[in-house]
Amino acid sequence: MDTIIKKADEEGVYEEAAKILQEGGLVAFPTETVYGLGGNALDCNAARKIYAAKGRPSDNPLIVHIARKESLNKLAKDIPKIAWELIEHFWPGPLTLILNKREQVPYGTTGGLETVAVRMPNNKVALRLIEEAGIYIAAPSANLSGKPSATMAEHVYEDFNGRIDMILDGGMVEMGIESTVLDLTDSVPVILRPGAITQTMLEQVIGTVVMDKAILAENQEMDLKPKAPGMKYKHYAPKADLTIITGKREEVEAYINKKIQENKILGKNTGVIATIESQQAYKDGIVKCIGARSKEGTIAKGLYKVLREFDHLHVDCIYAESFEDDEMGIAIMNRLQKAAGYAIISV
Ligand code: AMP
Ligand code: MG
Repeated sequence: MDTIIKKADEEGVYEEAAKILQEGGLVAFPTETVYGLGGNALDCNAARKIYAAKGRPSDNPLIVHIARKESLNKLAKDIPKIAWELIEHFWPGPLTLILNKREQVPYGTTGGLETVAVRMPNNKVALRLIEEAGIYIAAPSANLSGKPSATMAEHVYEDFNGRIDMILDGGMVEMGIESTVLDLTDSVPVILRPGAITQTMLEQVIGTVVMDKAILAENQEMDLKPKAPGMKYKHYAPKADLTIITGKREEVEAYINKKIQENKILGKNTGVIATIESQQAYKDGIVKCIGARSKEGTIAKGLYKVLREFDHLHVDCIYAESFEDDEMGIAIMNRLQKAAGYAIISV
């Protein structure tokens, strides 16, 4: 299969992409979080193609993207009042809601579950594509299963050239970390995946919200089962072993510098995930700056790009500094911890 790659501002691209989707094909497109790999959400054959292209386990459900708030009624039932309150505040935006599915949503899209995940993305290209196609678009992150998500069209090309029909290039995404996933099917809303819409932000609108305990790093030994099927899989992992170093800044830098030298003696190359504030502290190794600590959003945006860049460099291992475990930092640390397979050393 030849994959068509077009810039989102080229003439006629929306008509072309919409036609592919209507005929059951796959189109990757930008959202504000990461690139999505889209197919018709109500067509189980399209869903099957998405799983096949990604190599995604079939029990890991897809998020359905809509362009109008009221479309939620067509996909979900028993929608509680708090859902509409959240939608008023956060849609379009990086918040995915889990609700009971309507019959027309195939199990192929929901990974066999009675619930469906829905979100309205805050990205002009995504919204226009959904409107133009006149369908709801099931779109998981546009990366091969297990790899870091794609924040640029080049990442999508790297993983899917020849495997999907089209890539719509809308440049680098705005946020870089996947949406917050919130389950509204229980008596208390549960965050199944942390994201840019934080627990505090949600609680300001609807009161008590809890975090699925299974996704917290401190509970990894307990073998709890995450409620979002996708959260149990190893994810976002670069090829080289990644270890997170936590502790006081100077001690973290000293530890990583020591490791760089030890590895060098053994003939090994070391990669470092640093920040604008710390990059000067590393005198050796391959140092990549992920963003600025003073602006958490830049770190979210740079994370997957840096993880993918290390796959193209010859490094035997990677050390990452750790980040504040607050607000947006929870989402950043969640992805970094998963990428590291929870290999964390405190110094
Ligand atoms: P991705 O599409 O790659 O961003 O992953 C979507 C995430 O949402 C995965 O972690 C899924 O397990 C989760 N998800 C999607 N639908 C549901 C659902 N119905 N119930 C629970 N989690 C879901
Ligand atoms: Mg994903």
